Amino acid sequence: MKNLPLILWFRQDLRLQHHPTFEAAKATGQPILPLYILDDDTPAPWKMGAAQRWWLYHSLHALNKDLQAQGGNLILRRGSPSQILKNVLKESGAQSIYWSRCYEPFAIARDTELKKEFIEQGINIKSFNASLLFEPWEIKNQQGHPYKIFTQFWKKCLAQGPRFPTFANTTSPQFYPHLESEALTTWRLTPTHPNWAQGFSELWQPGEAGAHQKLEDFCTDRLTTYKEARNHPGKHGTSRLSPHLHFGEISPHQLWHRLHQLSPLNSSAESYLSEIGWREFCYHLLYAFPLLPERPFQEKFTTFQWQTDDKALRLWQQGKTGYPIVDAGMRELWQTGWMHNRVRMIVASFLTKHLLLPWQEGEKWFWNTLVDADMANNAANWQWVAGCGADAAPYFRIFNPILQGEKFDPQGVYIRRWVPELKSLSNTFIHKPWQASQAELHQANVILGETYPLPLVNHEMARGLALERYRQL
Ligand SMILES: Cc1cc2nc3c(=O)[nH]c(=O)nc-3n(C[C@H](O)[C@H](O)[C@H](O)COP(=O)(O)OP(=O)(O)OC[C@H]3O[C@@H](n4cnc5c(N)ncnc54)[C@H](O)[C@@H]3O)c2cc1C
Repeated sequence: MKNLPLILWFRQDLRLQHHPTFEAAKATGQPILPLYILDDDTPAPWKMGAAQRWWLYHSLHALNKDLQAQGGNLILRRGSPSQILKNVLKESGAQSIYWSRCYEPFAIARDTELKKEFIEQGINIKSFNASLLFEPWEIKNQQGHPYKIFTQFWKKCLAQGPRFPTFANTTSPQFYPHLESEALTTWRLTPTHPNWAQGFSELWQPGEAGAHQKLEDFCTDRLTTYKEARNHPGKHGTSRLSPHLHFGEISPHQLWHRLHQLSPLNSSAESYLSEIGWREFCYHLLYAFPLLPERPFQEKFTTFQWQTDDKALRLWQQGKTGYPIVDAGMRELWQTGWMHNRVRMIVASFLTKHLLLPWQEGEKWFWNTLVDADMANNAANWQWVAGCGADAAPYFRIFNPILQGEKFDPQGVYIRRWVPELKSLSNTFIHKPWQASQAELHQANVILGETYPLPLVNHEMARGLALERYRQL
């Protein structure tokens, strides 16, 4: 075995530091063959969204550079993982495949099949946890069942003690010398005409170095104020680490460790850690309820009467609902591939409660447009806002988009950034331009219905309709 190469199959673990799978591969002393497969077998609805493909392109580029600095090379292949792995085993003579676990139901099914198939052929398969503090099946309640309430789940998690494994072997890796690789550019992961990702590079630096830079900036500039600032979309108050976490460019263990280095943990750091806890909870839920991305977690919502309205859906997607905070969020998403969490809640509530459109439509749009699109986080949060998820907001909590705007963006900073056609309106009317007088609108160069839309629905009427629909359940 010693001289036979070992395939290190990279998936959602695109980093080299504090990487249990890479460490285990190094510890064998075998020549490592780093491989990434663009998986053509992923079922249609879960094929990687367009914004994520942009991220992937840059992240793979960064990973390859980091590997090259250590003497390796990332081998790129596109197709069915089963076939590609067979080819690479044959071409290289490798007898082992190591990978980091993925937890999407289709990925679990794929990996279980692959494991069975290759073990039968005498191939040594090993998998590791490189992306979660706790395996999603690990934390159970007293009856041995999965948790459905976040606070109880997280309390149990915290009681488990530190989450920063150390690795015995940190020797330099040996790499397999050469194997044919496809060129990353031929995968056409980035848009050309129109190049809708133009603004992405200003905000993001995909890859491990970019992730650590974001973490350090956050710890230096924003961690102490996080608890309060995290709710204000006009401020840069959060870490923006979500796409880096999704692609495994940094692990939650590394975040845990960094926060504890700054000990004692203050309430802001605790609040930040509990958001990492929400991420763990979403994976816990997805593992226990694999239909989470498709069906309501609460059975009774199966018969809920959603509307069909393509025009309203399109206006929501384009940020043309006439509600400034909703439109600002949807435009931030389009232009940067990311949206502030508070605004994600507002736009999701608007889609499901004001427009009564199915949460799955919003989930799908987010899947295609978010750089951090993540099956567990996306599905659990959409269900949470729609009221049909685990530990969900009660159905009568219908976010008022005007009050939410006034409370969390009182100076209209966020609105002015993303809905510039309203920038000259006073703070009094920036969240409800239809209440401004003609003179006020004229002075601000706003013509409702022309330069900015009239509200797509009346808030009070929409709220009444939603409550009635929910009551019928
Ligand atoms: C409708 C809706 C859809 C969402 N879809 C996604 C998604 O596809 N991918 C995604 O990563 N997050 C999703 N979120 C959760 C959250 O909005 C983002 O994780 C957060 O905005 C990312 O910004 P940040 O890294 O600055 O967060 P920070 O506030 O800095 O939080 C740190 C990390 O904690 C995790 N986190 C924070 N809030 C949540 C949460 N509510 N649920 C789960 N994990 C959380 C993220 O990994 C985040 O990077 C969604 C939320 C809503 C309401």
